[in-house]
Amino acid sequence: MSSEAPEWWGPPLAAEAAQWADTCWPDEALGWFCRTRAGQVVFRSIRVEATPYHFSIRPSDLVDWAYHLHDAGECVLASFHSHPMGGDSFSCADRRLALWAPWHVLFVSSPGGWVLRFARTTKT
Ligand SMILES: [Zn+2]
Repeated sequence: MSSEAPEWWGPPLAAEAAQWADTCWPDEALGWFCRTRAGQVVFRSIRVEATPYHFSIRPSDLVDWAYHLHDAGECVLASFHSHPMGGDSFSCADRRLALWAPWHVLFVSSPGGWVLRFARTTKT
């Protein structure tokens, strides 16, 4: 994990993701950053079963979501989730999440607000 952001990253995306993380508080939030057909980078939130320490998504929902993005012509740039109770590192489940996209963005709660962490997925 690092604080170095991908080239497509920007404050509007951070604000949107922070808003979604706040909405889901105190549970974890999940979402995606996608490039649209028009070339714009957007944030897509997705509602999942979540607790302050964990989230789960049904495989069938994930597949539906992937088809939806494909049909819309959107390309997934990064997966996103939050750690409302802190924790500046990936859990085992998070590692799998990071494999869903070239990048992963993690928002970690801190007394001063969300701390942003970025991870580039290592292709094997
Ligand atoms: Zn996590």
